Amino acid sequence: MQLDRYRVPPGQRVRLSNWPTDDDGGLSKAEGEALLPDLQQRLANLQERLYAESQQALLIVLQARDAGGKDGTVKHVIGAFNPSGVQVSNFKVPTEEERAHDFLWRIHRQTPRLGMIGVFNRSQYEDVLVTRVHHLIDDQTAQRRLKHICAFESLLTDSGTRIVKFYLHISPEEQKKRLEARLEDPSKHWKFNPGDLQERAHWDAYTAVYEDVLTTSTPAAPWYVVPADRKWFRNLLVSQILVQTLEEMNPQFPAPSFNAADLRIV
Ligand code: ATP
Ligand code: MG
Repeated sequence: MQLDRYRVPPGQRVRLSNWPTDDDGGLSKAEGEALLPDLQQRLANLQERLYAESQQALLIVLQARDAGGKDGTVKHVIGAFNPSGVQVSNFKVPTEEERAHDFLWRIHRQTPRLGMIGVFNRSQYEDVLVTRVHHLIDDQTAQRRLKHICAFESLLTDSGTRIVKFYLHISPEEQKKRLEARLEDPSKHWKFNPGDLQERAHWDAYTAVYEDVLTTSTPAAPWYVVPADRKWFRNLLVSQILVQTLEEMNPQFPAPSFNAADLRIV
């Protein structure tokens, strides 16, 4: 599959309405699902090398609208990695202490150390999304924050962290279906937040602020717009992009400090 077509070109402003939400890459669901186990094995092998090498880190940013599939992506894609080498951080409404600091303070504390994979389930980008839709900050502040985010991401890149950012792109119809499914199934009620319905009413405002966020795609920290109406395709595409990213990072097992041939275990 051609992965580049899902990457937001640096320096461009995309129109999300031109990006598909229901792409299937020309595959059937059965074909797509059949490709996943091999990718999961490759992800696990690459992660082991990353961990053993401990010279680089990978930061995966997940952003989506409500019911966009962040949790499902963590379960089905990130679940392929050895949990010891992964740290998942969920960013909620900032606490009082977090609000008493700059907006990147709580984010920086969760960045992965060398050898690790960090997953941000929501991220620094919330500070220029939900806050803008609800007019908690003005446009000038938002533009300044976007610059701070770019500078922060370059700092991480310079320090050995590769960044890959995913926007899970669903249609309003698909979100409606998923929210309805949560309402209908008592075992999913805990996932239902009546506040999500208010956010849904701001669909177009979110589209506009997401389009601003996607301008922060750079070669070192690219954004991918993942068609996410089909969960199997979302899992397949995210897995493929992560395999490609980790292969480019090319982590190597460190050379041993001993000669194995000289040693005998008695
Ligand atoms: P799910 O999609 O499964 O419901 P979730 O990520 O939405 O999970 P919630 O606890 O439902 O988790 O929501 C977290 C909320 O925190 C979201 O509404 C999000 O917009 C909000 N939030 C996160 N970061 C910020 C921020 N910096 N400023 C304001 N609100 C934020
Ligand atoms: Mg929620």
